[in-house]
Amino acid sequence: MKKISILGSTGSIGRQSLEVLENLSNTHQVVALTAFSNIDLLEEQVRKFRPNLAVLWDENDALELEKRVCNICKVDFGINGMKYAAALSEVDLVLNSVVGNAGLLPTIAALEVGKPIAIANKEVLVTAGEIIMPLARSKNVEILPVDSEHSAIFQCLSGHVQLPDKIYLTASGGPFRGKTKPEMVDIAVEQALSHPNWSMGQKISIDSATMMNKGLEVIEARWLFNLAPKQIHVLVHPQSIVHSMVEFVDGQVLAQLGAPDMRLAIQHAITYPNRLPNPFKRLNFVEHNTLTFNQPDTENFPCLALAYRALEAGGHYPTVLNAANEAAVDAFLNRKIGFLDIPAIIDRALSAYNDENKQLSIESILMAESWAKTFAARHFKGA
Ligand code: NAD
Ligand code: MG
Repeated sequence: MKKISILGSTGSIGRQSLEVLENLSNTHQVVALTAFSNIDLLEEQVRKFRPNLAVLWDENDALELEKRVCNICKVDFGINGMKYAAALSEVDLVLNSVVGNAGLLPTIAALEVGKPIAIANKEVLVTAGEIIMPLARSKNVEILPVDSEHSAIFQCLSGHVQLPDKIYLTASGGPFRGKTKPEMVDIAVEQALSHPNWSMGQKISIDSATMMNKGLEVIEARWLFNLAPKQIHVLVHPQSIVHSMVEFVDGQVLAQLGAPDMRLAIQHAITYPNRLPNPFKRLNFVEHNTLTFNQPDTENFPCLALAYRALEAGGHYPTVLNAANEAAVDAFLNRKIGFLDIPAIIDRALSAYNDENKQLSIESILMAESWAKTFAARHFKGA
């Protein structure tokens, strides 16, 4: 039995991971589940999967859950509870499906005790990929991508000793593909949340609408695959069938294709290096007989260019980009700012930040994050 700990089990990826694991119950076992505040859903998951540990963020929520499931598992809370769930001695694989940089400290805790990680939580690679990847190498453990584009690149590179010359990350373009800035001034939260191809958590849905999601993925790819920024290209591919591609020095291109279903990428990471059957829908080439590819529109969707700017600047700039984006997306979801204020605030934060200390540490990343969130909050009123 491969024993799995799921951080963020009540979210979109967390729930889909449990669907995958339900099908794999002969070979895989869930030993820990963590969530922010959804007590009822976590209780339901505990009753169904019977882990050894369940974790909620707030102590009182954890006490409430404990009352309900104390005959099944231990209950813990807070950042220490999450770190504990990530580093449990019996765990064989940690699936990190937390949203935002909140997943950083548990990721480090898992790596420090040599646990491999299936990572959906792209924000932690954006801020701390420079620390996480060498730490994983030093502990001789794998970081297995769950994000569909990175899973695609990982699969295309499998068995190749040489790095690719370039990679192409595909992007659906989100719900506002083809729109101009003036057409996006009054975008409502509900419109931004309705993605054409994928059903996802709120934060990544807004990131997809601004195209910051692709920007974060460029930075994620830089660290996962050790590539220079200029080797990472983005193509708008509205059908979301080609999940990404690699090109080698000899001009040969390999692509990974599949139905737009995150459970495929999740299962790949969970069962790696094996492949196991599943009941999910197969790709029908005749149904999807038109595949198109275009350059991204960075004029009307400036977030992608902001991400390249932060990546080129290096140091703590990707953290500032990510934290300003987390704060701005939250403010947009709470109807405090407009859709186009999101890139404007991130742009201002990147320009205002002065990275005096380019030497990264977890502490310095958390400080830069806190600076950017405070900066963004101060600018919401004037946005
Ligand atoms: P979500 O909002 O649906 O779920 C997030 C999970 O994290 C929940 O279980 C929540 O309880 C937990 N969580 C949130 N804030 C927390 C905090 N401060 N401390 C502890 N736990 C916290 O998000 P999602 O859509 O599942 O996305 C998760 C991650 O996967 C994101 O980084 C996202 O970019 C990435 N991702 C998602 C998809 C997708 O299809 N949803 C695809 C690719 C990558
Ligand atoms: Mg993706």
